[in-house]
Amino acid sequence: MQPAEIPHTSKNFTGVFGHMARYIFITGGVVSSLGKGLASAALGALLQARGFSVRLRKLDPYLNVDPGTMSPFEHGEVFVTDDGAETDLDLGHYERFTGVPARMTDSVSSGRIYSTVLEKERRGDYLGKTIQVVPHVTNEIKDFLKIGDDEVDFMLCEIGGTVGDIEGLPFFEAIRQFSHDKPRGQCIFMHLTLLPYLAASGELKTKPTQHSVKELQSIGIAPDILVCRSEQPIPEKEREKIALFCNVRKEHVVAAYDLKSIYEAPLAYHAQGLDQAVLDAFDISPAPKPDLNVWHDVYDRVHNPEGEVRVAIVGKYTQLEDAYKSIAEALTHGGMANRVKVKIDWVDAEVFDSSEDVATHLEGFHAILVPGGFGERGTEGKIKAAQYAREQKVPYLGICLGMQMAVIEAARNVAGVKTAGSEEFDHEAGKKRFEPVVYHLKEWVQGNHKVERKVGDDKGGTMRLGAYDATLTPGSRVAEAYGTTTIDERHRHRYEVDVAYKDQLEKAGLVFSGMSPDGKLPEIVEWPDHPWFIGVQFHPELKSKPFDPHPLFKDFVRAAKDMSRLV
Ligand code: GLN
Repeated sequence: MQPAEIPHTSKNFTGVFGHMARYIFITGGVVSSLGKGLASAALGALLQARGFSVRLRKLDPYLNVDPGTMSPFEHGEVFVTDDGAETDLDLGHYERFTGVPARMTDSVSSGRIYSTVLEKERRGDYLGKTIQVVPHVTNEIKDFLKIGDDEVDFMLCEIGGTVGDIEGLPFFEAIRQFSHDKPRGQCIFMHLTLLPYLAASGELKTKPTQHSVKELQSIGIAPDILVCRSEQPIPEKEREKIALFCNVRKEHVVAAYDLKSIYEAPLAYHAQGLDQAVLDAFDISPAPKPDLNVWHDVYDRVHNPEGEVRVAIVGKYTQLEDAYKSIAEALTHGGMANRVKVKIDWVDAEVFDSSEDVATHLEGFHAILVPGGFGERGTEGKIKAAQYAREQKVPYLGICLGMQMAVIEAARNVAGVKTAGSEEFDHEAGKKRFEPVVYHLKEWVQGNHKVERKVGDDKGGTMRLGAYDATLTPGSRVAEAYGTTTIDERHRHRYEVDVAYKDQLEKAGLVFSGMSPDGKLPEIVEWPDHPWFIGVQFHPELKSKPFDPHPLFKDFVRAAKDMSRLV
């Protein structure tokens, strides 16, 4: 598939606000998990399709400073940006739909805002004033919203949670004030709600939406557009009723139906008139015509696969698929590039931690992927999965911890380092169970400066985070897959494969085909005499897009497709 041209900058659009961005605030009501992030991402893509430049942001009301230390069981995956921020997984949707790389300044939480305010207070920046939610906390939020406001045509800001949540109030108050501070017409509010369907009476109920809008209005926000999730088509009569009771134009009540694939969302929202409603709300006329070819192509690839491959993801957080969101999406993109559907089976690594019978769990898959993770639980199972893939010649992709496990497997079973392991699992002082083939890195180079970490550093943000360059060996499988020998990819880990074992492992046949530019940190390993076995220290899944699948995922699924023809 051709990497699609997604317009990132608009050509001649200055409009009445000059180069100042227009703001679209996206809020949610009635229940959570309505797909606000997806709606925001799809709207971003539709505005781009009309030639506008966009930036998307997430404001999260929780008190954690960032999601970096939150359990994946609770919060889903942590999405890492090039500039090293640990952010909400919605930023992944934004990036996948718009191709605009997310930045540190695209994500903020109440915790971050409060800690900045408190730091300022301690420093005496407020000159002895009483610090209050209004104006100090709200001003801090407004300052955040203003960052980069002259860089794009539209700034889309999603508020996490639902209206009425106690933690969300300062954010709602801040966006209310913000829209008031700006000239009339520079900000609009889009609210997502649910229209529940009562099967017994065969009716869609509008009351929860009315209540949710009332709640918003009571804090001074009048939505311009309502996006209503519904299982059933919304009858004209109900749409009129919602418009009347919620004080929104009828054409601005947009339906959001359940979709087979999230990648239908841009076309589906366009068909329901969402982008037109947004341009109307800003009085942008005539509206530039959208070019939706990219999304038609994506739709076609999602809906018309020519085969299916089965991939096992052997992980720890398999009960919550959101924990590996970007991996699942990147596999789908790889499938789209190869015109196959990728069927993912989630295999809990702990299941065969102690069992010898790995084959019963992994037989029949066309490829095995061991994703990132933290802590020892499940790691022996992952090592067995890597061994199974190597011996049975099943395509294997190891990501971060998945690479470390593949290296430990090679050390133990091929290079003769019988007790090879990771320092991550040896925390009891004086009781070393493993020879640390994977060790705790304390010092490394980022760009042209040195980063140091002390053992006692707190858990937040002490990892090697964000984009780092790697140099690939010419002629290696990865160099072929990437089509280049210099890459940069996003990292998020504390431990590294120890370069001291490189010679020994290479003698055993494992090739270190990607290294940090200074040659100190192994970035990629591969078994050359295997159909496809690659481990990467970074997270390639974070940069994959449906219209531009990541080269490793594209090649991995291609290998799985070849495998499916063999079995
Ligand atoms: N726990 C490992 C480390 O910190 C791997 C991290 C990951 O997979 N993201 O190095």
